Amino acid sequence: MSRVLVIGCGGVASVAIRKCCQVSEVFSELCIASRTKSKCDALKDSLQGKTNTKITTAQLNADNVDEICELINSYKPDLVMNIALPYQDLTIMDACLKCGVNYMDTANYEPEDTDDPEWRKIYEKRCKEKGFTAYFDYSWQWAYREKFQRAGLVALLGCGFDPGVTQAYCAYAKKHYFDKIDTIDILDCNGGDHGYPFATNFNPEVNLREVSAMGSYWEDGHWVEIPPMSIKREYNFDGVGDKDMYLLHHEEIESLAQNLPEVKRIRFFMTFGQSYLTHMRCLENVGMLSTTPINFEGHEIVPIKFLKALLPDPASLGPRTHGKTNIGCIFTGEKNGEKRNYYIYNICDHQECYREVESQAISYTTGVPAMCGALMLLTGKWDKKGVYTVEEFDPDPFLDALSKYGLPYQESFNPTLVD
Ligand code: NDP
Repeated sequence: MSRVLVIGCGGVASVAIRKCCQVSEVFSELCIASRTKSKCDALKDSLQGKTNTKITTAQLNADNVDEICELINSYKPDLVMNIALPYQDLTIMDACLKCGVNYMDTANYEPEDTDDPEWRKIYEKRCKEKGFTAYFDYSWQWAYREKFQRAGLVALLGCGFDPGVTQAYCAYAKKHYFDKIDTIDILDCNGGDHGYPFATNFNPEVNLREVSAMGSYWEDGHWVEIPPMSIKREYNFDGVGDKDMYLLHHEEIESLAQNLPEVKRIRFFMTFGQSYLTHMRCLENVGMLSTTPINFEGHEIVPIKFLKALLPDPASLGPRTHGKTNIGCIFTGEKNGEKRNYYIYNICDHQECYREVESQAISYTTGVPAMCGALMLLTGKWDKKGVYTVEEFDPDPFLDALSKYGLPYQESFNPTLVD
């Protein structure tokens, strides 16, 4: 029996909330709070009579610590699930610390305004010191470690699929199959087709920033940075077929490099079709991905926000998307002195997700792990105080929960390796 405050009511949060409502014996009460309250009310109405979870809703600006504290103090949740945007991570963590509540999210902190001179000073120093230029990194949230520990609270970071399940796969591989892991390749394939010439599967601003950034990977104790989309491989994915995939910077590489220091190389690849890339390059070349405001006929507009308004709402892609996703990790290393390769992955079908929770597989594969992570914290299966990423917990109960609630894993002991 627990009471949970979910912040955000977009694509991912809607799935997480629907899944929590399937486990009412743990999630007995939920408050859905977001910027646009009408979305929370609509979701609550659609769940009425279908769950024993008692749902309430609230309007919340999660950029404001005092406003979050006011809601936490009146609702008194056992856990706050931050499924808004990465921009709100720090304000929600501050509020949780102030009010003495456990915290979790699905993506690491990134500022909304990357032109802010104060933030840029710290960012530029980090780029030089660490050797990668992505706008997001864990340093901001890792800085809360001692504070959460001292307060006797936990903050679980990045509990979606990637980051999230991919790190649980790493912990699982290490626990059961390897004495020493040499390389990890994380492969994220979306074989889905929504029928639009161009659309993003989750928040366009966050997605396009990630994809247009420099790529990077971890090798021999340091970052190697490469121009965007400059390393391409072809891979035959189980359940999907042949796809082109490109090396990207991704947040879980940073925590895995710290928590599995013996690993010599960690890379992340994501599949993209040629049409997606051509559209993206064109939009970038004409300045539509810029976050810097411009003046247009007397109005100030931010190009990427204007683009977001033009693109299909990711939440509307569910009924149109057909095909499957395949996300997993390939490991090389040693067990009992013998070389070993191992691949663990999940295949998820867009239409099956839609039938179950009225959403496509990208939101599903993120929302289900968020619910399962919350389940681990609320049932005490994951019981540590401080700030942690998923690979720092026991993977077994989490993978069991994922299998039970819609994301079972498959294994191969003879996978094709990525060169
Ligand atoms: P959406 O844009 O669909 O939803 C974001 C939600 O947050 C909306 O309900 C929005 O409100 C709300 N919100 C935004 N700003 C505020 C604010 N200041 N105060 C209160 N609520 C706010 O995003 P997604 O559902 O696609 O993504 C959610 C999170 O999941 C993101 O952090 C994303 O990076 C992460 N993610 C993680 C993945 C993983 O595998 N780990 C994969 C995909 C996404 P409104 O309705 O008013 O806009």
